[in-house]
Amino acid sequence: MAAPDRYAVFGHPVGHSRSPWIHARFAVLTGQSLVYEARDVPAGDFDAALSEFLAAGGKGLNITLPHKLAAHAAATRLSDRARRAGAVNTLAVQADALLGDNTDGAGLLRDLRDNLGLDLAGRNILLVGAGGAARGVLGPLLDAGPGRVVVANRNAGKARQLAADFAAGGRVTGIGLEAVQGPFHLLINATSASLADEVPALPRDAVGPASFCYDMAYGTGPSAFMRWAAARGAAGCADGLGMLVEQAAESFELWRGIRPPTTAVLTELRALQERP
Ligand code: NDP
Repeated sequence: MAAPDRYAVFGHPVGHSRSPWIHARFAVLTGQSLVYEARDVPAGDFDAALSEFLAAGGKGLNITLPHKLAAHAAATRLSDRARRAGAVNTLAVQADALLGDNTDGAGLLRDLRDNLGLDLAGRNILLVGAGGAARGVLGPLLDAGPGRVVVANRNAGKARQLAADFAAGGRVTGIGLEAVQGPFHLLINATSASLADEVPALPRDAVGPASFCYDMAYGTGPSAFMRWAAARGAAGCADGLGMLVEQAAESFELWRGIRPPTTAVLTELRALQERP
């Protein structure tokens, strides 16, 4: 019997990653034979670790901090969405290329639309943050046809630059956090503030009674941003666990040519996260 195909996630730190669990569940539910491991690859070691993985017959990788730019540079072919994002979170070994893709934006959009039932067309969206995650999702957000997207960041210059880079894709402006004037239909927290249990310093009126607040971060229980939004009367809140599962499903489909079921896996994962 042939050995199972090998996949991995490279990151630093990576011990907390749920990706091995998610892909193992996808493999069982789709009847695919594969192994998927988390590998701690310190900054600067990405190229050597990639060469070793490919030489050992590895078929595909997920890439997380701090390697998304190194993966972009290592790919010999880029998908349109990876080129637009300027970062790669998925590598796939193909017959004639090492394909770099970015599934973060598609994962977010699937979670917002399919899992949470949100309609983005014509809506006003506040995207908070201007780092790699914000850059990865801005193009797909603009493709959804919102009324406008405001990118707000602590470092206002980075928000302005991000908005300028995507100006051809729709109505988007970049500002500092203090200049935000709400309320917005949808607020997306793409900062890493929640990881330190902090909330970006947004004005109070950013949130109104019809606002939905989405935090890309996930953990145990509601994040600081979700608690902040609920205290200001937001209509609803969600964390980024659904995005995590949906972006993984996009990677899995790229590698295996089969779309895994995400609803059941998200339900199981949430129960696992909330177990004491
Ligand atoms: P980066 O390090 O590239 O960017 C961090 C961003 O957060 C910057 O805009 C930074 O602002 C801002 N920031 C950090 N701390 C604060 C604070 N206290 N107040 C205001 N702004 C702050 O990180 P990423 O873009 O890669 O990741 C952002 C988040 O998205 C993380 O929580 C990550 O876990 C999550 N994520 C979730 C995914 C999922 O599948 N659910 C997928 C990818 C990412 P400044 O520029 O001013 O420093």
